[in-house]
Amino acid sequence: MFGRKKETPGQGNGSDEHGLSLSYARTLSWLSLLVVLLTSLGLSFFISNQARQTLMERQEGFALLLAQNLNNQIFQRFAVPTILTYGHIALRQEQQYERLDSVVRSVIEGLPVARLRVYDFSRVVAYSTDAKEIGRKGLAPLNIGPAFQGELLKPEIIARVKVWQVPLLWPLEPGSYRLRVLYPLRGDAYSTGSSPVLGVLELTQDITADYVQVLIFQAAIVVMCLLSSVIMFTLLLIIIHRAERVLKWRMQKNIQLEKELQSTERLVSMGRVVASIAHEIRNPLGIIRSTAELLQRRAASSSDKGTTRLLQAIYDESLRLSQTVNDFLDYARPRQPRQDPVDLELVINQILAFVEGDFARDHIVIEKHFQGPLWVLGDKDLLYRALYNVFVNGRQAMKNEGTLDIRASVREEKAVIAVTDSGPGFDPDIIDKLFEPFFTTKEAGTGLGLPIVRSIIESHGGSVRLMNPESGGARVEVILPLAPQQPIVENGSGTGAGNADAESPAAQGGRDEHSAA
Ligand code: ADP
Repeated sequence: MFGRKKETPGQGNGSDEHGLSLSYARTLSWLSLLVVLLTSLGLSFFISNQARQTLMERQEGFALLLAQNLNNQIFQRFAVPTILTYGHIALRQEQQYERLDSVVRSVIEGLPVARLRVYDFSRVVAYSTDAKEIGRKGLAPLNIGPAFQGELLKPEIIARVKVWQVPLLWPLEPGSYRLRVLYPLRGDAYSTGSSPVLGVLELTQDITADYVQVLIFQAAIVVMCLLSSVIMFTLLLIIIHRAERVLKWRMQKNIQLEKELQSTERLVSMGRVVASIAHEIRNPLGIIRSTAELLQRRAASSSDKGTTRLLQAIYDESLRLSQTVNDFLDYARPRQPRQDPVDLELVINQILAFVEGDFARDHIVIEKHFQGPLWVLGDKDLLYRALYNVFVNGRQAMKNEGTLDIRASVREEKAVIAVTDSGPGFDPDIIDKLFEPFFTTKEAGTGLGLPIVRSIIESHGGSVRLMNPESGGARVEVILPLAPQQPIVENGSGTGAGNADAESPAAQGGRDEHSAA
């Protein structure tokens, strides 16, 4: 019934879950790193390719323009004058060749043109910047055909070196990368496309330097992307490492908390069992006590001293036991305090009226210092019980002589009851343990007096402090919040000991002492 085992979150497979989420986070991070790396590599290739394309387009545009210009110059400055002078064009004639050569060279002067050839319809080299090639066949590129039909072909790059070989063959020889344009030569100045094709112009430019620049740019982008990826990778690794450490620490903390929770739950259910047993014991114990008292009275008249002593022992022990049971139940099942206006001075006077006989018998003088009525909101019976425990502890500490000084005052808008006795004071070695339940140094103590005091005062929003003042003895300070409004005391309601209620809560079953009973 009481041993109900509660399933707590994260219990049992908690560490497995943490471990799983940890490895999940790690896998996810590695995957995202891979994605970042691939994306940045792809992006870098795309950007660098775009740059290369742009540069090549510019080169191609320039080459086509040059080819067109050559077509014009050749037509105007060579073809027309030659036909007018010689009636026909025959480049094998040295004069004609030299005229064409001077026109061509004047156009390409200073430009990065590696070679220039003109092919006739039989694909024989009609003109070349290299005079040795003139009249040779078989030098024309294979794809030259459409150019003879007047088609403008896209310039092409001729690479002697593969891109991956560039770093190995560095620095590259001139002519490693060339741009070739095949341009149909037409018989008009503006190559409008309507005039007939006379031959094909092959223009070869050395673009090695520009091409290498593009390759360097391309490599720089890839290297930069790789570098930034590596930096990001390292940073993420550090973050993952740290997160792992934090998670591990939290996991350990959670496991520890789970263990603590389980043991607290066990204690709580054990406390419930003990409280219900104590509750069951209380009634039969009351019957034993009252029966022993009755038998004691009867035995007193029969002058059987032995029986009277035995009955007295039964009575004393059952009284002590019921005090322990009551204390335990008060502590284990604290009741919710009421919120009535309570005059603390009146409560103290009521307690003193009840205990003054015991104090006088032990030669203990009580000194009261009240600044006036102190009103708090709370439960009069519970407050009576708490202060009564403090007074009784003071009396027990002083043994058979001393002074109990009770001061009630207002400090920082709080009611402060300071109870100082002239006993030995709190033992500094154990003062930290005195609020622990069942901690006692007394032979017949229950160790529940101070825990009950604290539980009652804290349930009123107050606090309790234990200290040893320099003047000697022990001091207990009970601090309670004042009632928001201090009620007006009607004439005659008085706060003196004379008005103390003889039917005090302690007399109604509070934490009695043997002598108070
Ligand atoms: P109990 O009185 O049953 O021992 P308490 O919780 O009231 O239980 O007190 C716990 C312990 O605190 C006592 O056993 C005692 O050692 C110490 N104590 C309490 N009041 C005083 C005091 N006025 N002077 C010295 N020690 C005290």
